[in-house]
Amino acid sequence: MQGKSSFDTIINLTNLNIDRNRLSQSVIGILSQKLLPKLCNDCKQRYLLPPEKKQELFKNSENQKIYAYCKIGCPTCANTGYKGSIAIQELLSFEDDIQKLIFAGKNIKEIKNYLYKREFQDMRYDEIKKEIRGLIDIA
Ligand SMILES: [Zn+2]
Repeated sequence: MQGKSSFDTIINLTNLNIDRNRLSQSVIGILSQKLLPKLCNDCKQRYLLPPEKKQELFKNSENQKIYAYCKIGCPTCANTGYKGSIAIQELLSFEDDIQKLIFAGKNIKEIKNYLYKREFQDMRYDEIKKEIRGLIDIA
């Protein structure tokens, strides 16, 4: 099913008039993913993340040096800077508490708030993780 995030998928499923009760009991989780071009290992270059970008991505990171990677281009990657692709993912698992929220008819905003309070690791989280590991460049 197409959707920008797990939450879109819930909206899509409920729009299909699938009974919320059945949805909450029969879906065990939603895995969302998108593919991004993977940085070429032979030429990617590490650089120190500028302070304003660091602040945007990480709170409380003032005293930390954080590095990211950028594309360069070489014969291995036909000068594109990328070689292959990599999946950015998030998994929204329908544990009991989530099932209850859906069954109770809570809207997506309420479900989202609940999840983010529990530090739900969304696609952006996975993306940043892979940026710092040098697998992809900074969005
Ligand atoms: Zn290359």
